[in-house]
Amino acid sequence: MASKVTKLTTHSPLALLRQIRDVMSQAASAQARLDDVVRIIADGFTSEVCSVYLLRAGDVLELYASRGLKATSVHLTRLSVGRGLVGTIAANAEALNLADASAHPMFEYRPETGEEIYSSFVGVTILQGGRVIGVLVVQGKQAHSYTQDQVEVLQTVAMVLSELAMSGQLVDAQEIKAVTGVLMAEQMAGTRLSAGIAKAPAVLHQPQLTITNYVATDTEHEKERFSLALQSLQDSFDRYIQTSGLSDGDEQREIIETYLLFTQDRGWLTRIDEAISSGLTAEAAVRKVQEELQAKMSQITNLYIKERIQDLEDLSTRLLHVLLGKPMTQSLSELPEAFILVARTLGPADLLDYDHKRIKGLILEEGSTSSHTAVIARAMDIPALARVEGATSVIQQGDMVIIDGDASNVYVRPSYTIEQAMDKHIEAAKRREAEYAVLRDVAAVTTDGVRISLNINAGLFVDTSSVLQEGVEGIGLYRTELPYMTSSSLPEVEVQQALYAQMYQEVPGKRIIFRSFDIGGDKKVPYLNAGDEENPAMGWRATRIGLDRPGILRKQFRALIGAASGQALHVMFPFIAQVSEFDAAKKLFLLEWELAQKAGNVMPVDLKIGVMVEIPSLMWQLPQLMSRVDFVSIGSNDLMQFLFACDRGAAHMADAYDTLSPVMLRVVRDIMIAANEHKVEVSFCGEMARRPLDAMALIGVGVRSVSVSASAIGPIKAMTRSLSAAQITEFMSFLIDSDEPSLRHRLAGFAQDHGIVV
Ligand code: PEP
Ligand code: MG
Repeated sequence: MASKVTKLTTHSPLALLRQIRDVMSQAASAQARLDDVVRIIADGFTSEVCSVYLLRAGDVLELYASRGLKATSVHLTRLSVGRGLVGTIAANAEALNLADASAHPMFEYRPETGEEIYSSFVGVTILQGGRVIGVLVVQGKQAHSYTQDQVEVLQTVAMVLSELAMSGQLVDAQEIKAVTGVLMAEQMAGTRLSAGIAKAPAVLHQPQLTITNYVATDTEHEKERFSLALQSLQDSFDRYIQTSGLSDGDEQREIIETYLLFTQDRGWLTRIDEAISSGLTAEAAVRKVQEELQAKMSQITNLYIKERIQDLEDLSTRLLHVLLGKPMTQSLSELPEAFILVARTLGPADLLDYDHKRIKGLILEEGSTSSHTAVIARAMDIPALARVEGATSVIQQGDMVIIDGDASNVYVRPSYTIEQAMDKHIEAAKRREAEYAVLRDVAAVTTDGVRISLNINAGLFVDTSSVLQEGVEGIGLYRTELPYMTSSSLPEVEVQQALYAQMYQEVPGKRIIFRSFDIGGDKKVPYLNAGDEENPAMGWRATRIGLDRPGILRKQFRALIGAASGQALHVMFPFIAQVSEFDAAKKLFLLEWELAQKAGNVMPVDLKIGVMVEIPSLMWQLPQLMSRVDFVSIGSNDLMQFLFACDRGAAHMADAYDTLSPVMLRVVRDIMIAANEHKVEVSFCGEMARRPLDAMALIGVGVRSVSVSASAIGPIKAMTRSLSAAQITEFMSFLIDSDEPSLRHRLAGFAQDHGIVV
């Protein structure tokens, strides 16, 4: 059949849009307005037919309004997604423009509509949040293709229609959202950053903005608004690069530079310009292009392209904020009392902007277990998951969310059954907590009278009430690097000193072990550039940085000595590989000590200098080490990753070895033997100690002091109070030379047989 290009529309796109806007603002019912809209479009396109299909439950597209098709078919004709031309458009999220519809292999004849007399067919998707919620179709008797301009106009109209479709007046709001997956219950999996379980409404770090004005009154003005917004965004990126001190090759800088490049992306800019020319406001045009990108995203599997599209999408969001005059982060005072924070990515400073008492959990689309944000989430003791794919599109602001950090699952808008089941877990956790609360006033003493010193790992926040309970000696590991990580420049001595002094005030009379900074490696700070390191965990980090840049370390020592004035000061150095490094760090410390004395400052009343054992090389320097230090703290997180050559941040390596490997336990035993010979106090501050079964094994190889996050104190106390130190020591001496990869089953059996609460 001959095909020719149709005549242009009778109305200009702008006139068409304005007519639609007028109809939309009328007080008539939604159905009456939709009927009017299809009439206006059919007239505008000088076509015989214009129809709107909306998605309903069961993935069915229902004919909701039509000008031209038989009136009796409205609300009667239904097509499954993937069936017929309309269903194909919905399934592929792509427009179809056909001169002869019946020649298309997916064409399905519906006699009730009377559409057999029509040839030309153009259909576009009605999108919401990148999902298809309907299809807008124009048909004509004459066989011809529609111009690309006409398809664009229809897409613009479809965008305006999406607001009406989502209003809840046509299809019930619950239903339409459910069919688009927006309100459907979802279970999503992720990678655990921090364990625990929590239920609370979701707060999106950057929620979707509402656009109220779709149709432009002055197109030129809208173009001007868009270019001003773009300019302001570009300026802010430029300013950021100039003032942040980020050097070339820095990852953060590269991201900003990529964004800057994207702001000049011709294809993207042209699409927005065309959308404004078709009669949309600047914000509606940006949203339209964003919606189209989102729809494309769902079809694309190539990770690289997906990431690029995601960058463009991010850029659109930033532009929308500028255009609508809304700040990127929401006003903190508007947030609920308790919530689960959902973000694509989140820097540590962003996380710390929120009131940490209100955040009950954290869900990220990206991120890894060793990211800065993960470190902070653990410090906050909230369940947190990363790599929850699609979290920010599936989870809507205010949705009820259950985050199960233990099983690495997220339940979004949970069904009644799921909610009940998870409530039981939450209740059980609460009951356990209540049982532990009973133990607040008792110490951690084994059944045979061995006292275990309990300490808390902290940094930035400290759960004061946990530290002040019976049996808790103090803060066993204060990670001082967190303020460094959240600051854009090196924190001044006064700032550091104030923070450390505050710790003394918060937990009076308790011991605090300050660990000098462990920045670098995976905990990058913008003002110290180690360049690109292939294995940052084994790179320029912690005391290595401090010894190379003694000024930084000395500043911290000065702050610590100042803060501990009149108090006992415990300092330990992380990431020591050779005793000579300990000597060098101690020398720097003593230099500051002397200076403070000479200045006539009120000095700390006691000083103990220790070291973290977290690099395996120290195992062959134990006597030399023990003769130098006042105390040691075993950092199993690093120690094990180096011992087993397994990246602690790599989720897929998590099962490569077990913490209850006899090898690890022999390492701990040997440290304990060497320390005891030199009467050096040992604490165990790695994550391993927070699990009762692991802590039981550690007691069995001689550990008498652990430092764990606040939530682990109760379980460890309960375990200790049901354990005989003599029995576990004897059992461990029998097991420790085992050549099995893990002693877990044996230890679990021991705990069960002896009624130990693990
Ligand atoms: C460790 O390595 O075990 C430790 C406690 O330090 P961090 O986790 O801060 O590296
Ligand atoms: Mg460490």
